[in-house]
Amino acid sequence: MGNGYVYLIGAGPGDPDLLTQKAAKALKKADVVVYDYLANNKLLEDCQPDAEYIYVGKQAANHAMKQEDINALLVEKGKAGHTVARLKGGDPYVFGRGGEEAIELRRADVAFETIPGITSAIAGPSYAGIPVTHRGVARSFHVMTGHFKDDYAEWDWDALHRLDGTLIFLMGIGNIPRITQALIEAGKPADTPAAVIRWATYPTQKTVTGTLATLADDVAKAGIKPPGLIVVGPVVNFRDVLSTFENRPLYGQKIIVTRSRAQAGRLSGLIEEKGAEVVELPMIDIEKEATSNWSGVINKLNDYSWLVFTSQNAVDSFMDGLYETGKDVRSLGHLKLASIGSGTARTLKKYGLVSDAVPERAISEALAAMMKEKLNAGDQVLIPVGNLASDLLKNELSEICKVDTPVVYNTVIGKESADYLKEELEGSVSGITFTSASTVKNFNEMITKAGLEWPESKCFSIGPKTSKVLKELGIEPIESENATIDSLMACIENDLLK
Ligand code: SAH
Repeated sequence: MGNGYVYLIGAGPGDPDLLTQKAAKALKKADVVVYDYLANNKLLEDCQPDAEYIYVGKQAANHAMKQEDINALLVEKGKAGHTVARLKGGDPYVFGRGGEEAIELRRADVAFETIPGITSAIAGPSYAGIPVTHRGVARSFHVMTGHFKDDYAEWDWDALHRLDGTLIFLMGIGNIPRITQALIEAGKPADTPAAVIRWATYPTQKTVTGTLATLADDVAKAGIKPPGLIVVGPVVNFRDVLSTFENRPLYGQKIIVTRSRAQAGRLSGLIEEKGAEVVELPMIDIEKEATSNWSGVINKLNDYSWLVFTSQNAVDSFMDGLYETGKDVRSLGHLKLASIGSGTARTLKKYGLVSDAVPERAISEALAAMMKEKLNAGDQVLIPVGNLASDLLKNELSEICKVDTPVVYNTVIGKESADYLKEELEGSVSGITFTSASTVKNFNEMITKAGLEWPESKCFSIGPKTSKVLKELGIEPIESENATIDSLMACIENDLLK
C-alpha cells in the first residue's frame, strides 16, 4: 500500500458554511484537490495555496473528464503518496458516483475514507422553505434521479404514486414535462404542489413553485436551467411560511466588490449575509518592488528621524526589504514611527514596533496635519509608499523638512480577463463598491482596456479620497459616512433598500 490517502469529501450543496468540520480539516491537509462543477469553488480558498488543483467538471452535456479517468487519477495520485481531497457536491454517495471511486481505490490498495456531506436533496428544499417531511402532511421522502437515459429506465410511476411521500428528483430539469405528466397519469392530482429549486443554497438560488399541471410552463417561463431539484408534494406549500433565504433584504441583487486579492473577504461576507450575490473583482494585486531598487534608503536609515507608514502593504513590503538586506528592527531603534490608521499600526505591531503617532482619522490630510505639528526643519522623514500613492503627504511635509518616498510596492491590475469582466457586468448589477482610490483607478483602467463603458450601476465609495477619483471620472458616488467597512456596508444597505 502506498503512503497516499484519499478523502472522498462531500462539499455540501453550495453554501460554504454548510461544509462539515471534518471536511474542512481534510481539505486543509490535502496537497492535491480534485473538484467538481457542483462543489462551490469558494471552498478551494481554504485549501493549501500551493496544492495541485484539478478540475474534473461534470456538467450534463459537458463532461470535463470521464468517470474512469477520474478513478484512475485518484488511484495515481494516491499511489504517488499524495494526500488527496476529492471534493464532490452534496454527499459523495448520493448520485455522486463516490462509490465507484472508492471501489477503485480499494482495488488499487489506496487508503481512503469518505466524509459525508449535506445533500442538496434535503438542504435545497430546506433553503427554499420546504420541509421534506411534516407531521400529518408527508411521512416519508424519496430521492431519485429524474434522468432516464443511459443506465436508467423510467420509473414505475404507479409505484411512485403509491409511496405517498414527498418526491424529490435530482438531475431532472430537462425532463420536467415528462415527470409531471407521468405522475398525473399515474393518479396524482394535477393540483399537487410542486417546486423547482435552482442553485440551491447559493446566493443565486431561485425557486419556482406551481402544481404538477403548471410546473413545466412555470419553469420554462422563468428560464430555469440545471442544476435544480424538483420537489413534489403538499409540503411545497410550507414555503409561504417557512421561506427565509430568499427573503433576506438584499436577495436578488448583484454587487461587485473591487478589492485586492490579498484584502478580499470581510466586505463581501457582510454583503452576502444580507442576501446579495457578490462578485469579487480582484482588480488590484500587490507586488513588492525589488528591494535593490530602494535599498539605498535602508543603507542610510541613520539620516532619518521619522518613519511614516500610509498602508499595511507599505509596512509589510518595507519590513521584508529590511530583512532581505540582512538588517532587522534594531536598525529602526532611533526612529519615531507614525501610522496613518489603526490597521497600519496593528500591522507594525506584528513586527514588535509601536507607533508613536496615529491621527484620529485614517486619511492623508489628517496624517499630514498631525506630522506638521511634530516636525522641525532639521528632521528627515522616510515614507515608504506604493506606486499609486498621492503626493499630498510628501508635498505638505516637504514644506518643513526633507522627505523621501521610495516606492516599496506596486499596485497592479489583476490578471482577470476582459471577458470575465464583461460577463459579470452584463445583466443587472445593483452596485459596485470602491474601498480605495486605487480600486477606482484600476477598475477604470480595466474597463477601458476591455473596451467597456462605465456601468450604469450605483458606485459606493468608502470615503472622500475614493469619491474624489470617481468624481474626476464623472461619476457621482454614494459615499459612506465613515471610512470603515461597517459604515460602507450600512451605506449600501440604506441605499439599496430604499
Ligand atoms: N451528490 C449530490 C448530487 C449529485 S447529482 C448531492 O448530494 O447533492 C447532481 C444533481 O444534484 C443536479 O443535477 C441537481 O439535481 C442536484 N443538485 C446538486 N447541487 C444542487 C444545488 N446546489 N442546487 C440544486 N440542485 C443541486
